[in-house]
Order: sequence, then structure tokens, then C-alpha cells
Amino acid sequence: MTAVLSPIALVLLLGGAVYLSTIRWRKLVGLMLSAERPDPRFDHIGRRLKALGVYVLAQARLLRWPYAGIMHALIFWGFVVLLTAILQAMVEALWVGFHFDDVPGSGAIAFLQDLFCTLALTGVVMALINRLIVRPVRFRGSHTRDAVLILAWIGTLLSAMQLNYATRIAQGSPPEAVATWRPFASALSRLFDPLGADSRSLEVLHGVFFWAHLALVLGFLVYLGFSKHLHIITSTPNVFLLNLGPKGGLPTPDFEAPDVEHFGASRLEHFSWKDVLDLYTCTECGRCQTHCPAFNTGKPLSPKTLITDLRDHAYETLAGGYAATTHRAHQVEGGMWVTEEDGHGEGAVPGHFQPSWLSPDQVAAAVTNAGGEERPLIGGTILDETLWSCTTCGACMDQCPVLIEHVPKILDMRRHLVLEESRMPKQAEQALRGIENQANPYGLSQQTRADWAKQLGVSFVKDRPDAEYLYWVGCAASFDDRAKTIGTALVTILQAAGVDFAILGTEERCTGDPARRIGNEYLFQERAKENVETLTKYGVKKVIAPCPHCFNTFTNEYPSFGGHYQVIHHSQLIRDLLESGRITLTHPLDETVTYHDSCYLGRWNDIFAPPRDILERIPGLKLVEMARSRSEGMCCGAGGGRMWMEEGQPRVNHRRVKQAVETEASRVATACPFCLSMFDEGISSESLGDRLQVDDISVYVAAALARPEREETVAAVEDAS
Ligand code: SF4
Ligand code: SF4
Repeated sequence: MTAVLSPIALVLLLGGAVYLSTIRWRKLVGLMLSAERPDPRFDHIGRRLKALGVYVLAQARLLRWPYAGIMHALIFWGFVVLLTAILQAMVEALWVGFHFDDVPGSGAIAFLQDLFCTLALTGVVMALINRLIVRPVRFRGSHTRDAVLILAWIGTLLSAMQLNYATRIAQGSPPEAVATWRPFASALSRLFDPLGADSRSLEVLHGVFFWAHLALVLGFLVYLGFSKHLHIITSTPNVFLLNLGPKGGLPTPDFEAPDVEHFGASRLEHFSWKDVLDLYTCTECGRCQTHCPAFNTGKPLSPKTLITDLRDHAYETLAGGYAATTHRAHQVEGGMWVTEEDGHGEGAVPGHFQPSWLSPDQVAAAVTNAGGEERPLIGGTILDETLWSCTTCGACMDQCPVLIEHVPKILDMRRHLVLEESRMPKQAEQALRGIENQANPYGLSQQTRADWAKQLGVSFVKDRPDAEYLYWVGCAASFDDRAKTIGTALVTILQAAGVDFAILGTEERCTGDPARRIGNEYLFQERAKENVETLTKYGVKKVIAPCPHCFNTFTNEYPSFGGHYQVIHHSQLIRDLLESGRITLTHPLDETVTYHDSCYLGRWNDIFAPPRDILERIPGLKLVEMARSRSEGMCCGAGGGRMWMEEGQPRVNHRRVKQAVETEASRVATACPFCLSMFDEGISSESLGDRLQVDDISVYVAAALARPEREETVAAVEDAS
């Protein structure tokens, strides 16, 4: 009888699970395929497989956080090994009387299953402790009930699996040698000794545990499709489909294509299929949020909630209804944005974020059409303020263990606001106007662009097109008095080293980076084409770009416009000059200095070592690190066009200045003109001038140059400032 019923039961269970899963997955995949923007991601299979090895098998990003990383690795690796046990159970259900454990030589597999089942259970217990007792801030706003349900489900499933083996061992069924390969199940089997090896109760219990673990596995697979923790299935493909384009570059939309109907994204289908897969993949771990400068200074942006809100919007689209009450209300608590998942706090309006500067009525107005009709994606599910709070620092993407791409989505939505609705902060509009009319976001006369260099004996490319390097000065070092010190110091260093260079002068125009990151892709493309044309005219091959934003645009974005150059940041060039002995540093600086990583130099372009190597070569200088440095360095708050936008208190740059003060350094070194300005403002606003000073690395190098170069340099820098 059992020989007939067992296969039928398995087929019914399996058939039911496949049927129910298919209904859900057809919808999920259908939504992905309804996304219009093409995004080819099936090239370079070797590199994609390598990424799987690094991020999935080796759990590289998860292990940056030791407790959570070990916990996750135990569960992940446990499941990988236990897939063999699940397959084994299915075969045994179909082929009644057959047991893998009885097959000679199966002991090693049995041992691994036994060990990894126990390790995975340990991981589940660690996860429950983390969720329910430790409750790190990063989990706020996550679907805790769903996470606990899933952990309990996995724990029950694993326990049933282990008890299935334990009861079989207690029955004395497997050969004794095999039982010894399952030491944990063997130990557990002692619990059943009082029942007697031949008892009917033990046989029934064994059947219950065997079928319970199979039913729980199949039920789990069905539930995942409906759960907020779909990532258990989608994270591996999401990692495989990672972006293999330049890390710091954005894809270039073709606005001249005949079928362009809209700019940016204001509906789910305006994104790419990979964007939708990203939404399904969020684990709600909150690592992105922990490192987000906007979130950490109380701005209405959490990269985690941005993704989960978009995902909930997608799920509501699938369900055909938009219930505002399913959304989470956020309230400010002790300067941090926190979330009430289950219901809404008194006075809180159902919605996403409840910024302190918006009244509940304003938030309610933003969450329109609740209860069935479609809610607008922007201004409804995602508030405008959320999008404008992003500095595009990339910390979220650098932290995300499943490689979700937040920044391109934010910029896609900004593009919609700017290009289709002209809805943006006033100061952003002014910066765009400056780039359009004067080729710089400061809006200052383009004719004065090269005035800073008048007394420095700098050549112009139009006179010296054969110069080895084009020194791309950038708008900040051309127009901002504080940033002009970078240009002056660098020119002196280049002249001291005998580097052959020239500048474009008034032929240089903004690279378009601020326009692109604010959302005016049109303006960016216009500037990009003009600049590439100018450089092509002069046959430029090598570019020195001290501004990391210009560096990033030249390196990662101009190639799409036919601009291929050998681009070098001034920190790299100065290090080369020091290493080759073309300049030497002899004048000591007896100070403690901390280096602030620029996001567009460090995180987006992996340039961390050169500025530090330079500082370490300055005699007397002691280099100390801030608590957050290198890839975990905190943004200064200027990126993504935020340099030109107002910011509420507390400001990102003020927070970063305080982190520098905590090192007890007397000076900060920067390698970006915007970081320099932000530190300057932060130090002066926080009245910390007596404790901290800031300068670009080039200024420190120029001051330390061997005499007689130094006297000339100091005089030049002083004249400029
Ligand atoms: S890019 Fe930076 S500011 Fe923007 S969401 Fe990510 S971490 Fe936050
Ligand atoms: S986006 Fe990535 S880092 Fe952020 S919560 Fe989701 S999985 Fe975690």
C-alpha cells in the first residue's frame, strides 16, 4: 500500500507546488518583461560566473559584517548541501524501500548533510537572535514578521529533516556504520529510545517527519513567490546579471531614437527588466541604509526603503490595487528616520517617509488615490524629496550583498522630473542654467575661466597642441576661489617636475557631470559632444583631471561619445612624479593629517592608495584614518548635483567634519575641489577653525617641495588665495 501511496503523494505535492508557483512566477516574470528599456546582460559569461563565485559562493560582501555574514553563510551553505538531502528524499518517496544511506560509500554525503543541517540550524538561531533580540537599526522598516516567519519555516524544515534521520536511526534501519556518519542525528535518535526500535509509534513519527520536511520544502518554494523575501530565489541570478560596464559610468540613453516616448522613468515599465529583478531581490538587510549619508543625517531617503517601496508598488501592480495602508509610515526619532511597520504611529500619515518639513496633510496629498486606483510612482510611492536627497555617493551599491543598483534608478526618476515635468529644487535649476548659458554650474562668465592661470605661465592648447598632457582644470578650480588653490599648486608641481602640459582656457566647458546627475541628460549629452569634439580637434590623448567628477566622466562616460583618452587623476600623477624622482619633498609638515576619500575617486573608481602614498612621503606628516574610510568613506554631501542645492540640518558635510575631528588630526587632506569646499564650509559653520584645517593634497605637496621650488610655490598659492 505504502509503495503505491508514497509516489502518488509526492506527485500531488510536487504538482501542486509547481502549479501554484507557476501562477505567481508568470506574473512576476511578466512584470519584468513588461519593462521597456533594453538592458543586455548575457555577455562575458566567464566574468559573470566569477562574480557568482565571489559574491554568492564566497559571500564576499556579506562577510564584511562578521556576525551577519557568518550567520548567512551557515544558512546558505547549509541549504546548498541539503539540496542533496531533498533530492534524496524525493527519490526515496518515489522508490519505496530504497535508502541512499544504505548505498555503500554514501557515508561522506550523509556526514556532510548531518553537519550542514546542524550548521544551518545554528545560522537560523543566530538570525532569530539578531532579528528579535539585537534588532540592529538597519532592520527598521523591514518586514520583520515575514522575516521571522521565513526563519521559523526554515528552522522547522531543518528540524523535521534531522528528526526524519534520527527516527530512522532509532528504528535501527540503516546499517550501523551509516548511523555513525550522522553523529548529530544519532545523538538526537536517543530521544526516541523509550519508544522502542520496533514500535509502531516510531514508524509513524518517522513518516510524519519525512513527509513534513518534504511538504515544508515545497510549501516554502510556493510561499517565496508571494513573500517579501523573494531574494532567496532571485539573488543568485541577480548577481550573475551584474553590471559589467564601467562602475562609475551611467548608461547613455539614445534620445534621438525614433521610438522615444518619454524621458526617464515615472512608471515601473519605464525601467529595465533588470531593474525590476533588483526590486524582487532586496533582502531588506539595511546595509545600504547604514552607509547612506542622506539617511544618516535625517533626510527623507533610505536606499533600502526606496527599493522596497518600489517593490511594494510592483506587487500592488500585480495585485491590481494600491492600498496606501500597506505602506509604512516613517517618523523622526532622535534624528534618525525610523519606520513603524505594523500600523502607523499616532499622527503619522500612511505613506513612505514623513519628512519633518512636510505636514501630514502634504504627505497625505502625495499618497494619492489610495485604496484601489493607481498611485503615481513619483510623488506617490516615492516622494520628490527622496530623489533629491541622494548625493550619488554609491555607498548603497557598494554595500549591497546582492548587487542592487540604486543610483541609476534614482537618476532615471530624476530625469523624468527634470525633463518631463521641470520639477526640481530652484538651486538645481540655476546650476543647469549656468551650465547651459555659461558652460559652468556657477553661472559665472565663461570668459573669465582661465583668469586664475594668468600669472602662472601656463600654455594654452591652441598654442601648444603637441603638449603631452591636457590639464583639464574643471569648473571648480576655474571659478571657485578656494578651489583655485588646487590649480595653482598643481601647476607649480607640474612645472617643478618638467611635465609638458597645456590647458584649454575658455575652450574648456563643464563636462556635464552635474547636469547628468541632476537629471538633465540632454544638457549632459550636449556638453559631452562639444567637449569630445574640442579634444578631437586638438588630437588630445592624455588628460590630467584633478576633479574626480571630471575624471569619472572622462574615464567612464565619454567613451560612449567617442572620447577615448588616457585619463590620470592628479593624485596618481603626483605619486608617479615622486616615485620617479622628478620631484622630491623635503620641507617637513609636522602635523597629523587625515585623508577624506572622494566618492567619485574612491568608491566609483577604486583610487584609494595614491593620495595616501603621497601624504606618507611628506616629511614629518603623520597620517591617521577616519573611522569610515576607503570604500566605506562617508560622502562630503556634494555629489549628484547636491553641491548646488540647499540642505536641511544636520548637513552631511558637518557630520563628516566631526568624524575628521574625532581622529584628533589637525588637518584634513582632500583630493576633490567639491570635498574641499564642503569641508571648508563645515569647519567654518561648526566653528572648528582652531582645531582643523583643510587643503587639497596638491597644496600639501607644493608646500613640501624641495627648495627652491617651495618658495615659488608658497608665493603662488598665497597669491591665488
Ligand atoms: S548613492 Fe549615497 S546618498 Fe544616494 S541612496 Fe545611495 S548611499 Fe544614499
Ligand atoms: S538594497 Fe541591498 S543592501 Fe539595501 S536592504 Fe536591499 S539587499 Fe540590503
